[in-house]
Amino acid sequence: MDSIRTISANGKKILSLIVQHGPLTKRQLAERGGIGWATAVKFVNRLDSVEVLTRIGTSDREIVSGKNSYVYDLGRRAPVFLGLDIEYRTTRFALTNLRNEILWSSRAETPRASSLDDIEGFVARLVSEANQAAASNGFGPLDGIGIGMPTWLTEEGATIFDALGGRLSARFDLPTRVENNIRAYTLYKEHTTLQQSFVVVSVRNGIGAGYVVNGELLRGEQGLAGEIGHITIPGNTTRCRCGKSGCIETVVNEHALTQEYAVRCGDAVSANRTDSAFSTLFRDAAEGSEVAVGLLSESAELLGQAIATLVLVLNVRNVFVVGQFGADGDVWVPFLEESIRKHVEPRTEFALHYRELDDSGYLIGAALLVAREYLDYSVMESPATAW
Ligand SMILES: [Zn+2]
Repeated sequence: MDSIRTISANGKKILSLIVQHGPLTKRQLAERGGIGWATAVKFVNRLDSVEVLTRIGTSDREIVSGKNSYVYDLGRRAPVFLGLDIEYRTTRFALTNLRNEILWSSRAETPRASSLDDIEGFVARLVSEANQAAASNGFGPLDGIGIGMPTWLTEEGATIFDALGGRLSARFDLPTRVENNIRAYTLYKEHTTLQQSFVVVSVRNGIGAGYVVNGELLRGEQGLAGEIGHITIPGNTTRCRCGKSGCIETVVNEHALTQEYAVRCGDAVSANRTDSAFSTLFRDAAEGSEVAVGLLSESAELLGQAIATLVLVLNVRNVFVVGQFGADGDVWVPFLEESIRKHVEPRTEFALHYRELDDSGYLIGAALLVAREYLDYSVMESPATAW
């Protein structure tokens, strides 16, 4: 099934306003949504009758026909979604509502999957578990399934996104969308900031990029848009999980950089370390360690080239590098900027920012792959502090 539970364009406006502003009266909904009064009354009543909306009291400031007017909030049958964040080792899954609140969550070990059948079976098991949890907690039934997963989880390639979505959709008779994790995260950031154009580059155990251009999350024809981690570095022969050798993400990633830093520091220094966390590299660089600065500068040269390519192709100004670099993550920014500047056309404007990764963003972003179809972003306002 490919259609969302029938909610009209006006219904979406009403839901979006209540999601963003909290409980509102019909009058407030009509005004803020630019909907005629009679239409607002009709649609609010309709949503109320199916328990998508519920009356939670009256407004003492607004009088209609001599009575205080009702205030509406999301009701018992407001949409509920299942979001799954599948990672190589662990899968987190959660029930969410249109406010991006996590109603229930759990996790499972991701099996070593070799085929589409394996993944479908695994996800089907989690959907059943979530359905039971929804029923026993008084939510649901589910209105959709959103999945963020690694592109290279199986050897069948990127077409797995649409193939898996199609199979699960038919199996559960629910709208189901599948994207890679970083695009799910990018969608979460788009939803929470309502920015029209930006790029997200994540550096974890691989490099991923997601981007929104003029309000559209771009995925490419195969769902492979943004795979900049697989740009080849000349002379690098390290084998990548994508099957090729020499990809940039085999050198610039959490594990490789942490390891390389320990090696460069030598045994004497690393023996004294109580932690070998990725963030140590950034902390030491901030404190002036030449070894740490050298490594960040070299890796920024490589990553900067890849980001410059994106900036040149997309002409998007704001680039957010996200990861778990710790409190001193900003120390990488000037090196990356210098590299990008060297590789873009001289008049290209860009601004690079570091942001600590918001871990729940992957999960909520996955649910938003389906939840966003209930919303009308045009009536929602950008928050004052965006990113
Ligand atoms: Zn690769």
